[in-house]
Amino acid sequence: MSATDKKIIIAVDGFSSCGKSTFAKAIAARLGYIFIDTGAMYRAVTLYALEHGAIRSGIVDEEAVCRLLDQIAITFRFNPARGASDIYVNGDLVEGKIRTIEVSNCVSQVSAIPAVRKKLVAMQQEMGRRRGVVMDGRDIGTVVFP
Ligand code: C5P
Repeated sequence: MSATDKKIIIAVDGFSSCGKSTFAKAIAARLGYIFIDTGAMYRAVTLYALEHGAIRSGIVDEEAVCRLLDQIAITFRFNPARGASDIYVNGDLVEGKIRTIEVSNCVSQVSAIPAVRKKLVAMQQEMGRRRGVVMDGRDIGTVVFP
C-alpha cells in the first residue's frame, strides 16, 4: 500500500533555507497531498503583531503578542495558479505580506514565545487530523507529530 492509497502525515524537518519547502511542495504535488508551510504561520502571527501595535521599532512586546493570539484565525486555501496554498489571516489573504524584511526580522523572536508555539502547534496537529498532508518546519517530526 502506498502513501496515495493510505493517507499519512509527512513531516519535513530542517533548518531555515535548507530546501525543505521546495522538497515538501514537490512531494505534496506528486501525492496529491496538502502542503502546510508552518513557517508561513509564524510569519502570519508576526505580521498581525506588527499591524496591531505589538511590535514597535523592531521591539516585540511579548505580552501584547499573547493578548492578540485569540484574535488570529489562520487558514490555507489552495491557489491553482501557484500550485500551492495561500495563507489567510481572519479571511484576508496575507501570502504577499508575510515575506517582507520587517516580518523576517521579527519572526524568530515571535516564534520563541511559548504561547505562540503552543497555539500554532495545536493548529498544526488539528490540520494533520485529516491526514494526507506534508508539513514542513523545524519541529514537525519532533514536537508536532513525534
Ligand atoms: O521557514 P521560514 O523561514 O518561513 O520560517 C520563518 C521562521 O518561523 C523561522 O525562522 C523560525 O523562526 C520560525 N519557525 C518555527 N517553527 C516552525 C517553522 C518556522 O519556529 N515549525
